[in-house]
Amino acid sequence: MKIWLDGQLVDESEAKISVFDHGLLYGDGVFEGLRFYNGRIFRLEEHITRLFDSARAIVLPMPWTYEEVIKATCETVAANGLQNGYIRLVVTRGVGELGLNPYACKTPSMFIIAAGIKLYPEEYYQKGLAVITCATRRPAPGALMPQVKSLNYLNNIMAKVEAIQANALEAVMLNEQGYVAECTGDNLFLLKNGTLYSPLISDGALDGITRAVIIELAAKLGVPFQEKSLTRYDIYTADECFLTGTAAEVIPVVSLDQRKIGDGTPGEITGRFLKAFHELAGSTGTPVA
Ligand code: PMP
Repeated sequence: MKIWLDGQLVDESEAKISVFDHGLLYGDGVFEGLRFYNGRIFRLEEHITRLFDSARAIVLPMPWTYEEVIKATCETVAANGLQNGYIRLVVTRGVGELGLNPYACKTPSMFIIAAGIKLYPEEYYQKGLAVITCATRRPAPGALMPQVKSLNYLNNIMAKVEAIQANALEAVMLNEQGYVAECTGDNLFLLKNGTLYSPLISDGALDGITRAVIIELAAKLGVPFQEKSLTRYDIYTADECFLTGTAAEVIPVVSLDQRKIGDGTPGEITGRFLKAFHELAGSTGTPVA
């Protein structure tokens, strides 16, 4: 496997980052996860724009231009001869001192991995996920800006631990006020009486790119959409529910905390979104070469 690291494509065995890198020492950095279908990267510009916005928000000076990052991303996919897969693009603060001070880190590092990913086993895309609510809360936006896709994922990992310990594959995370924020690596949608709902970003959700695609598709499919603070009650009493994310794509949810959602099977409108998403993802995007 070829990895893009600070301007060069190197062998996986040579792709190394210092133990003094603040990305490793403190989770100080930002990242993106992208997908490519049939040799085309889906929503490439949106992902790279979000990367630059995340970097700006944490005062991480990007040593590469927007165009250079786009080119590097395409080159990495092409160098690995892949047609379909997932891209992980990471920018770390770089090598610094053992103290926190990010200004002591002179040069950020960027690396890009193109590989496969399977977030949930295939069968769950047909039968739907049974999810739980976890005790781990999303940090308040004043503590950690939810829009920033930072390397600090410990909060999500603790939520994932709870899910796995409860024999579930995914957990719904609430914010400090008890409103639904998102799942450990996905945004959440529900359908009630024909209207599509998703939590507000300010309730602690990442401004997901797949989420934005679903909102676009809702307009095309003629499904009214509303962004709204949601509680567990709204999910318990929803007609349908599904999760979205670059790695997850679109996956139905059939129960929350052992309570069936709708009739406990993947919903009909969810199926329409799933189909429309795959049609769009499979036929659009930026060619890698
Ligand atoms: N929330 C979190 C916490 C995530 O890590 C992700 C995956 N990037 C998402 C939501 C979904 O975002 P996107 O559709 O941009 O991949």
